[in-house]
Amino acid sequence: MTQYSVGVDLGGTNITIALVDAKGNIKNKVKISTQIDKDAGFVIKTIIENIKLIIKDVSVKKLMGIGIGAAGQIDHENGVIQFSPNLHWRNVHIVKEIRSKFKLPVAIDNDANVACYGEFMFGAGQGANNVICVTLGTGVGGGIIIDRKIYRGVNGSAGEIGHITVESNGRRCNCGNRGCMEAYVGAPHIKERAIEKIKSGRHSIIVKLVNGSLNKITPKRLEEAALYRDKLALEIWQETGFYLGTGLASLINILNPEKIIIGGGVANAGKLIFDPLLKTIKERALPVSWQDTKIVRAKLGEDAGVIGAAMLVKYS
Ligand SMILES: [Zn+2]
Repeated sequence: MTQYSVGVDLGGTNITIALVDAKGNIKNKVKISTQIDKDAGFVIKTIIENIKLIIKDVSVKKLMGIGIGAAGQIDHENGVIQFSPNLHWRNVHIVKEIRSKFKLPVAIDNDANVACYGEFMFGAGQGANNVICVTLGTGVGGGIIIDRKIYRGVNGSAGEIGHITVESNGRRCNCGNRGCMEAYVGAPHIKERAIEKIKSGRHSIIVKLVNGSLNKITPKRLEEAALYRDKLALEIWQETGFYLGTGLASLINILNPEKIIIGGGVANAGKLIFDPLLKTIKERALPVSWQDTKIVRAKLGEDAGVIGAAMLVKYS
């Protein structure tokens, strides 16, 4: 009998809900926008209605449970979203509410942990026991799997890889600190670094690519500029890979992972970021620490969240 569980990826912009089998295949999926102007009760009601829709053709006997990945600080033992800046929620007992409607096991964890768990189970991490995930987007998300289990730390906040210091008195980060990896590698910061160089008088084809409006610079545009061997764009990617590698070298020295899985939109730059990243890791981490570590691209894309969330039910 094929068994299924439901994965819910609850973010500040969208909610994705999927019916997933035990091998990580998505059988049915819906994506709706998160109406964050409404209260938590309304959003949870919408989630419940969509779960009902997605499981309507599956007999209850085949359903193992519901797993949720949510942005923010999560008390996974008690099923509470303690604080989510993206959702503007505080102390929302989401697991209790959803469980009362379905009488199935319901589990929750932080979205970055859940996405990492998805990659670990059915994506680029398959077969490994110790995995670190890094998601390069607006921010830099992280997840750590040790001995096949999500590592959460004392209060669930483990894996904040983006806030490793890579420059002791460096750029200001959103967290308030200076010199965090995210302050160099996060998409808005990549853009800012490019703008600063252009404003300092440097020439770049990127100015043409965005028709003079520097505000339209994106990592994607910087990839295009690099195709023209644009010096400034190549330098930006060189630095981005360097700072990412500097942070990851520390992690490799400490955790000696089997795999580091790198995903998110900024990772689409491919060799532009991976070449300097690998070079820096080899220069900065201890040889014994990095020699058996593989640096790989994430495989599941946006689906890592729902797949990992669904797997929380059976394996947590
Ligand atoms: Zn920071």
